[in-house]
Amino acid sequence: LSIYVKQIYYSNSIKTGFLIVIQDITQIRKYENLRKDFVANVTHELKTPITSIKGFIETLTSGGIEDENIKIKFYNIIDSETNRLIHLVEDILTLSGLDSQTTITQSEQELVNVMAYMDSIYSLMEKLAEDKDISLSIQIDEELKEVPFNSNHFKQLMINLIDNAIKYNKNGGCVIVKMYMKESNAIIEVQDDGIGIPKRDLPRIFERFYRVDKGRSRQAGGTGLGLAIVKHIVQVNNSTIRVESIVDKGTTFFVEIPLNTEDA
Ligand code: ADP
Repeated sequence: LSIYVKQIYYSNSIKTGFLIVIQDITQIRKYENLRKDFVANVTHELKTPITSIKGFIETLTSGGIEDENIKIKFYNIIDSETNRLIHLVEDILTLSGLDSQTTITQSEQELVNVMAYMDSIYSLMEKLAEDKDISLSIQIDEELKEVPFNSNHFKQLMINLIDNAIKYNKNGGCVIVKMYMKESNAIIEVQDDGIGIPKRDLPRIFERFYRVDKGRSRQAGGTGLGLAIVKHIVQVNNSTIRVESIVDKGTTFFVEIPLNTEDA
């Protein structure tokens, strides 16, 4: 609690009074702590690849390595660490853009043509799936033509969910994306038969930088921000997201988009 007391004097009068303001600052503190944690995490996440890049460059420029194969290996590490930095910076910028965005009202919302968008998303993700021998299928209910959503957000949401479904899957696995209507909502399901998420981690996976297995996420090129971005996107577009998962069986994310929301 923060308590603020001010003595009040009325002009030309001897009457005095007190103004007492009692403010619950729990939320403010909580927000401040979250911000501090985020800055500390960002610093750490940026430092790790930078330190590694610097180390490999120093080793290469010292001239101590003669073996061409080792040199190529080091150059490849520098390349992939640089890509990781680029992804990280892109994700941080996306998140900070979303942070300053309030809920999109119905009049500001675009109508996303589901078929056309899913077609372009499929083309983007096809290669990733093929590389892991994963079958990617997209099933859209014909009834569902358009959804009220910001189109850039829609694309980013689908890419992040499908990317995870491929990343946290085994070779030869399966990813199924379904879109259909249920009552007055559009439902998107992104289902995989991959490694699954332990029950104790489920409530935390939408937090910034939270990963079930840090090593695995890093190796797969993850930044730990994908689902935090998804959660924000869903919120600003008046929608909801939930997840069901069983370890070693797979994970399904469900996004629910109201089709005829009233402006708040
Ligand atoms: P990352 O960049 O690490 O993938 P995300 O925010 O996208 O970060 O996801 C957070 C964590 O949730 C991941 O590190 C992973 O442990 C877990 N996760 C997300 N999607 C899936 C999935 N489809 N299957 C299994 N685990 C998942």
